[in-house]
Amino acid sequence: MTPPRNSNAARDIANVLHPYTDAKAFQQTGPLVITRGKGVKIYDEQGKEYIEALAGLWCASLGFDNERLVQAATNQMRKLPFYHSFTSKSHEPMIDLAEMLIERAPSPMSKVFFGNSGSEANDSALKMVWYMNNAIGKPKKKKVFARIKAYHGITLAAASLTGLPANHKLFDAPIANGRFIHVGTPHHYHEAKPGESEEDFATRLAEELEAKIIAEGGAEECAAFWAEPVMGAGGVIVPPKTYFEKVQAVLKKYDMLFVVDEVICGFGRTGSYWGSQTFNIQPDILVCAKALSSSYLPISAVMVNEAVFQGIAEGSSAVGTWGHGFTYSGHPVSAAVAIETLKIYDETKLVDHAAEVGAHMQAELRKRFADHPIVGEVRGVGLIGAIELSADKAAKKPFDPAKKAGPRLCKLGEENGVILRAMANDSMGFSPPLVITKDEVTEMLSRVEKSLDALAVELRRESIA
Ligand code: PMP
Repeated sequence: MTPPRNSNAARDIANVLHPYTDAKAFQQTGPLVITRGKGVKIYDEQGKEYIEALAGLWCASLGFDNERLVQAATNQMRKLPFYHSFTSKSHEPMIDLAEMLIERAPSPMSKVFFGNSGSEANDSALKMVWYMNNAIGKPKKKKVFARIKAYHGITLAAASLTGLPANHKLFDAPIANGRFIHVGTPHHYHEAKPGESEEDFATRLAEELEAKIIAEGGAEECAAFWAEPVMGAGGVIVPPKTYFEKVQAVLKKYDMLFVVDEVICGFGRTGSYWGSQTFNIQPDILVCAKALSSSYLPISAVMVNEAVFQGIAEGSSAVGTWGHGFTYSGHPVSAAVAIETLKIYDETKLVDHAAEVGAHMQAELRKRFADHPIVGEVRGVGLIGAIELSADKAAKKPFDPAKKAGPRLCKLGEENGVILRAMANDSMGFSPPLVITKDEVTEMLSRVEKSLDALAVELRRESIA
């Protein structure tokens, strides 16, 4: 249906190039225009209500109407709406926020660098690793390891770390300097051999990582390993038991840094303050964004330990500056909102709440969907989860992509008042605002179940026809 002339939909089609959207098909389908939010819900132009099962993009942790954040932004806007942090300039919101992050870090951290997005933070972390190794006399130590299906962002270096075909194929990524190496995905359901336990699978992955490191020149050439505690956009992949302990031991052996991407997992998502704590990881560099400000304003952070900081300090004294930073690094209004966000997390014990409601969500997901005829796997931890659709449960076979099972479930979800997201293999993600209540989780999953049942009926009818 063609939208009415001069409607928001028509003007959108005429003028906007949307991220992560089929640009050609969009000219026909058009947008879903959202006008306001309240709690865990959003409303479209017609006033229709939806529960946001993804908190937007895994990010609006405090929901869509937090008045304290509005006040924090307003107050800072009036006092000092902008100042930068280049050439030794500073301001109180950035200083306070850096201090708060270091106090809350999962392992001892020394300094915080600020960016505006997860991609910028990962790019910055990578540049830190290369810069410090140049500075400390290890110019050959530049290779970085990430996992197939990882998501670390879309700027060129971050996209090179990302391990998803859509971010590589037509973009000439990864950067072809031989420094980006992708290793196996820790997804037991698909990648384990028949009968292989989670622990044995983890051992095999760690051995494969070690073999790759040796093949790529060992400690002399291999610099760092990148990982999300739970892989998000790759399909909500929870690592097998003992995986990170074993990987961490390999990294220590080859003097490699562990860069933990907490962009989704940070600030309570997995039921602990950091995903690193849920999986007992000690990051050397920690990258965070999204829930840092509940996404009300853009801000990201890279925390580095003392050894990394010393390397950067060494480098900058050699050339007279650490020549990296963004106009908006540590932006005072974003920082003020982030400070207020972290205070709200503490005062409302939001991480405990997320753990409790997360346990409920995990139980409900399993109860409702584990035995569903078109669900292959239910997975997750805390308030992040997924159901993976399957055409053949026993063979763990996905649906033919031409069936568009996942996107169709999203559409049915919209009709039933829930915003969903389909990822590879028709994995449907759940990552609602952390403030969601148990009753709201129940309502959200009832809407999903209704949509899934409708999809199963449609698919059955098509396979007979
Ligand atoms: N890392 C992870 C783990 C992410 O999930 C994302 C975004 N979904 C990014 C990095 C990139 O963040 P941004 O979109 O803010 O650049």
